[in-house]
Amino acid sequence: MNTLDWLTALAAIDTTSRNANLGLIETVRDDLRRQGLDPRLTHNAEGTKANLFCTLPARDGGTQGGIALSGHTDTVPVDGQDWTSDPFKLTERGGKLYARGSCDMKGFIACAVGMVPEFLATPRARPLHLAFSYDEEIACIGAPVMLADLQARGVRVDGCIVGEPTSMKPVVAHKGLNAWRCRVHGKAAHSSLTPRGCNAIEHAARLICAIRDVAEAWRAEGPFDDCYDVPYSTITTNMVSGGIAMNTIAQLCEFTYEFRNLPVVPPAEVQARIEAYVQGELLPRMRSEYAEARVEFENLAAAPGLDASEQAAITQLVRALTQDASVRKVAYGTEAGLFQRAGIPTVVCGPGSIEQAHKVDEFVEPDQLAQCERFLRQVAESL
Ligand SMILES: [Zn+2]
Repeated sequence: MNTLDWLTALAAIDTTSRNANLGLIETVRDDLRRQGLDPRLTHNAEGTKANLFCTLPARDGGTQGGIALSGHTDTVPVDGQDWTSDPFKLTERGGKLYARGSCDMKGFIACAVGMVPEFLATPRARPLHLAFSYDEEIACIGAPVMLADLQARGVRVDGCIVGEPTSMKPVVAHKGLNAWRCRVHGKAAHSSLTPRGCNAIEHAARLICAIRDVAEAWRAEGPFDDCYDVPYSTITTNMVSGGIAMNTIAQLCEFTYEFRNLPVVPPAEVQARIEAYVQGELLPRMRSEYAEARVEFENLAAAPGLDASEQAAITQLVRALTQDASVRKVAYGTEAGLFQRAGIPTVVCGPGSIEQAHKVDEFVEPDQLAQCERFLRQVAESL
């Protein structure tokens, strides 16, 4: 099957992140097996989802080193979107290929899988690997499972290309994404008897303001990197709930905040700063009202930023093949930071425009897929 056949097949499998992705993974796995390959699946705890990692060995059978082509198999939902055609049926209209995931990022996966026979026929001194993950769209949950398995098995990969939509231009950096839920536990009381309670909402509000202070300090003092749209790290509280009645002091207030750190800002330090405020100021205050007051944090997402080295062989290769030397840094997160943190130099380069991703009537242009095929052919030849 060629790229178009594969994209048609992949688009027809609804891999919205809330669903199992096994239909897609097993379809790819079976095809790779028929070609004599030995794909390895790593599942989530429930067994409903899997990553696929498959090595296309070098000419001499070598499986260490080489380059990985990475893509996520899940997509964002189509809920509430008014699509012109069935989002799970690849439809050509006006020279564009429409389907959920056509651009983000089944187009890249279709190119990679469709070209396996060609990759196998290319005399390579080093291996090529396919690395397809689950649950990228919900905070990059699958890729760490695959990376841990590679590490446990001692599989070494020299470089990685994450094929997220960049219009086939190299992206060398993106911010990290971290999300946390915070639960502030106070004490309920009738609202006429305020000294008997400990108002979780009011104390949570102080903490939310302290988080806002972090945001304002970043904005005023940096660090800055002008290659980004928003050239500093950001942090913001985006959901809050608390209280049960208008005449009852709230026992519980819960909120979530999210920060997008420049790669030079370690996320652990950001969280430590927030927790230091809680320990040093908020809790002593709360406990003067109620000895058992407490504040809990739960991490919801932790995708590290990417900051590729210009010296890395993979960066130089992708720059050479795309003939593009511009330094592009983007606001959206990808799995690239996870690969980099695992010691695998990584850049982002894939077909389609990020403008199309996640939207109604998502599409990819056939020319982008053709460019991607040419690019992947050259990647294989470089090995
Ligand atoms: Zn994506």
